[in-house]
Amino acid sequence: MKRNQFFSITIVLLLLITLPNFLGFIGAGNPSNVDYSETMGSGNFQWAFAVITDSHVGGGIPEFDGIGWDDGASGIDGTNGAYLREAVGWINCNHVKENIKFVIFGGDLADSGEKSELRKGKEILDTLAIPYVPIIGNHDMWPYSGPSKKSDGEGIEAKHARGDEIWKDLFSNTFANLRYSFMNWNDGLRAVPTWNGEADKIDENGNVIEDAGCYSFFQCFSFDYGNPSWHFVFADFGTRDHAPSGYRGVHGGADLFDSAKVQGTWPWLKNHIAGTANNYKDDHLVIITHFPPTKLDAPWGQMSFSFSEYDTITRWMANFQNKIGYWFAGHYHMERAYDVETYGSRTVCRGIETGPTMGGHGCAHCIRVIRVYD
Ligand SMILES: [Zn+2]
Ligand SMILES: [Zn+2]
Repeated sequence: MKRNQFFSITIVLLLLITLPNFLGFIGAGNPSNVDYSETMGSGNFQWAFAVITDSHVGGGIPEFDGIGWDDGASGIDGTNGAYLREAVGWINCNHVKENIKFVIFGGDLADSGEKSELRKGKEILDTLAIPYVPIIGNHDMWPYSGPSKKSDGEGIEAKHARGDEIWKDLFSNTFANLRYSFMNWNDGLRAVPTWNGEADKIDENGNVIEDAGCYSFFQCFSFDYGNPSWHFVFADFGTRDHAPSGYRGVHGGADLFDSAKVQGTWPWLKNHIAGTANNYKDDHLVIITHFPPTKLDAPWGQMSFSFSEYDTITRWMANFQNKIGYWFAGHYHMERAYDVETYGSRTVCRGIETGPTMGGHGCAHCIRVIRVYD
């Protein structure tokens, strides 16, 4: 092949590869972008599951539906609701053909944790023809109405990060049904109040009282699927700390909840995995969180685990590197996958992030389909 011929073919190929993504990115309402690039296991194809995340229902609408965050109605979908509906529609049309058995929703269902946003999000997820498993995100955690930046407009804010309790109550029928959809369902910390002395509160004037404490409902639970079994472990690392002054809601980071003030997600996850890992084949443990296990390389650095938290997690995971195969997350609104490594560059599992159904940040309206082989 001549040199300039090679270059023109390369350019045409590049255009063919990138153009659909580009069109998907700029074209609101385009068909969802389905990503099959990551798989689990090896051998013969058995079944699949889908991951969708970060719908941010109510985004761009500071006062979604009724006034305040404790609003009861369930009205319009809004732009982000419509995109979530589109993702759900694709799954409903394709789950039989694709052998998709269930859907994982990775958090940030709402944009500011308003009850109306969460209800609308659930109303849309409830139209899925197959079971779905939701985990809470930071945008669901501390309910408020109005813009996130206080100086941008009026709003009403909850006194503490009570989104987890609202989430537990809202999805109570969903979780009640999930017990019958999966083997070895374990409710973990999901439905029990755990005292959280690290949680902030705000006073009458909106001033933050750090570590005032409250009960948290850490959304940690697990189940099995497949034969041989894959063990899916969900862990809630969403901070209950308030955003910096001048802003509403929680800040965007993760917490381990492992201190003298709270024994929550990290102690639970460690105990759970230590107690169950040997029941499963190698690589058959799957962790799901809203926050991705990255070394803070994203443009939104400091918005997931801190360096020391990451070090704690990955060092510990190295003890189970044969058992823990995959870690799924959303949050950064990026569609990407990588080997999760300790700071000593030892690979502990595969990290898989899924882009948001709402689109943006260079992600088309993503749906990830994971094909499982055994
Ligand atoms: Zn998000
Ligand atoms: Zn998030």
